[in-house]
Amino acid sequence: MPQYHIWTIGCQMNKAESERLGSFFEQLGYQPTATAEDADIIVLNSCVVRQNAENRVVNKLHTLKPLKKSRPDITLAVTGCLVNSSVVRLQRSFPHVDHFFKAGDYPQWLRKTEPGQILPQHPAPNTFVPIMQGCNNFCSYCIVPYRRGRERSRPIEEIVGEVKELVHRGAKEVTLLGQNVDSYGHDLPDKPELADLLKELNAIDGLARLRFLTNHPKDMSTGLVEAVARLDKVCEQITLPVQAGSNDILQAMRRGYTVEQYRRLVNEMRSKIPGVALSTDVIVGFPSESEQQFQQTFNLLSELRFDTVHVAAYSPRPGTIAAREFEDSVPLAEKRRRLNEIEQLQKTIATEINARLLGTTVEVLVEGRKKGKWQGRTRTDKLVFFSNSSDCLGQLMKIRIEKTSPWSLQGRAENNTN
Ligand code: SF4
Repeated sequence: MPQYHIWTIGCQMNKAESERLGSFFEQLGYQPTATAEDADIIVLNSCVVRQNAENRVVNKLHTLKPLKKSRPDITLAVTGCLVNSSVVRLQRSFPHVDHFFKAGDYPQWLRKTEPGQILPQHPAPNTFVPIMQGCNNFCSYCIVPYRRGRERSRPIEEIVGEVKELVHRGAKEVTLLGQNVDSYGHDLPDKPELADLLKELNAIDGLARLRFLTNHPKDMSTGLVEAVARLDKVCEQITLPVQAGSNDILQAMRRGYTVEQYRRLVNEMRSKIPGVALSTDVIVGFPSESEQQFQQTFNLLSELRFDTVHVAAYSPRPGTIAAREFEDSVPLAEKRRRLNEIEQLQKTIATEINARLLGTTVEVLVEGRKKGKWQGRTRTDKLVFFSNSSDCLGQLMKIRIEKTSPWSLQGRAENNTN
């Protein structure tokens, strides 16, 4: 039986698309294999959001050259954000690659007609569903709109049908994915909003939890905040990237909001959604970011006390506005210092926030096993490890928390609520 191998890096969107690609190959009679050497088809699902990610893709492509040379019958394909409109240039740079196809597309050389939505046969208990592609925002540092194109939303009926089928196949939790889910639906005929979609999905029998990623402070509406508060399956956990604590830097980033507007939104979420857990993303060392501007970011994070902060050091992406118009003026060592300061701050904050859960009982959806323990997540997205002698994959468990750290919790199973 022919075999396929998919190598994936990058965001949850890439992971969800790889899962669907795997199902597509399986419908055509291919089996998955963990090693590229055993495969008949190899697909690299690429990410170029940071230089480091792009380097990994390019390295991977180079390491596959000898394999392709010794076995020219292997089909080597590349998808994801590396694939832009200039495929000809990619073909010139990587002549050993047989096919390049766009992110979210499918291998047309294998099937000439549109296959429809391909779903994972055995979805994870916590599975991912892309609800839209692309982004219209053009933040000055970001390559995504150039690679994934403008926003295209999927109709509500299509997503509801898909989620029902995923639940039928075993999924318990669904995370809706988009580069900017707050602008979901504006390109559809009757202009539904994300809150409308959540309401429909919340009614699906057998579905236990709903999440969504990623929000944009410029577009997030009061209606959505109220829907999260009202709908019982929508988890009280929101990712809202702030990126910087200085209005001048936010303007240079073309983010479209001020620190004051962001703070108001956080306050609104905290007052309307009891126990909401908030995550954010931050970029340090953006061109011309002064020490004082960095301190504004540091102070904002100290004030707002997020559950999770993903911090990245700025690196210019060729093709973006920032790479074209701004000098990458903050030295690398300084970027590293700023990144480290924020990581240390967040470690302290997360230690304190998680310590409050000691001795409480939380509901955990069990996602798998690691190092002899079961692992899962709370509704607020806290990672929890616990021991249990019987198979509890996909179950909602009550876990009493006995140990906490900034990154995860450990506990004991009390009873199975599933
Ligand atoms: S909102 Fe900004 S950072 Fe996010 S994908 Fe769109 S352009 Fe990139």
